[in-house]
Amino acid sequence: QEPLISVKNLKKYFDVGKGAVLKAVDGISFDIYPGETFGLVGESGCGKSTAGRTIIRLYDPTGGEVVFNGKNIFALSRHDMSEIRKNFQMIFQDPYASLNPRMTVLDIVAEPLDIHKIYKSSKERKDRVIELLQLVGLNDEHAMRFPHEFSGGQRQRIGIARALALNPKFIVCDEPISALDVSIQAQVVNLLKDLQTKLGLTYMFIAHDLSMVRYISDRVGVMYLGHMMELAGSEELYDNPLHPYTKALLSAIPIPEPEAQRSKKRIVLEGDVPSPINPKEGCRFVDRCPYAVDRCKIETPEFIEHKPGHFAACHRIGEI
Ligand code: SF4
Ligand code: MG
Repeated sequence: QEPLISVKNLKKYFDVGKGAVLKAVDGISFDIYPGETFGLVGESGCGKSTAGRTIIRLYDPTGGEVVFNGKNIFALSRHDMSEIRKNFQMIFQDPYASLNPRMTVLDIVAEPLDIHKIYKSSKERKDRVIELLQLVGLNDEHAMRFPHEFSGGQRQRIGIARALALNPKFIVCDEPISALDVSIQAQVVNLLKDLQTKLGLTYMFIAHDLSMVRYISDRVGVMYLGHMMELAGSEELYDNPLHPYTKALLSAIPIPEPEAQRSKKRIVLEGDVPSPINPKEGCRFVDRCPYAVDRCKIETPEFIEHKPGHFAACHRIGEI
């Protein structure tokens, strides 16, 4: 199967002054296949949101390629990019912050249609908005109301309706449920899954909560300080993690049965996430890794396929 999107050696650096460079995303590569959900996880500051934004060119890349429909979108002119941009959308963590409080739901959802001028009459515009609202479990009565009149879950539905307005193929969901009550999270995840099936969508689902990512993702990538540490099918990653960082993240997931808790060897992560500013050579996880050896400080481990479809970047896989 051909990937929908190929990310090749993607880099996004930020100049933070005084000669310091923040290497938020530092050379990551992976494919995303049509119709799948690719989960991207890691602690805050690992570069996952920056990666999501750069892939759809909301940020200018520092290096690398993103190939979509056989074209490197980073090489496209602004004009060609604006045509392709319709295929890419984003759903944000905080639905309230991303909705203009002074606009009605009708105008919020219609905004992408307005920008691309893709209706012939105001009736056609409104009909399309109502269709979108129904798709996300809202209805026509909601169209003339304002964001503050809705609950968090409903606001996220409004954000999703807007993201669907231009019939995108690929949606970056940046922690879309982190700000919601636990009781609402499953509803929004189920809505996203239903929409994926109905509309043939492909998702990149960014999260720090590993348990929810497992439930929604077909494959999962684990990032740490701008590098991809591990990537595998969801079940494989959770059942047979290879990388010490993934093992540590998974051991932090609370396990309900006390027996399972006891049998699971827990690795405790010590120290804060180091800064990605002017990172040193070597493995980025070295300061926190219980298995680190001298080599890890000098040589950056390559991201290698250890089993079919299961990649990891660590010098000591097989020894630990
Ligand atoms: Fe730990 Fe070394 Fe592997 Fe990095 S390369 S994860 S420091 S063992
Ligand atoms: Mg983020």
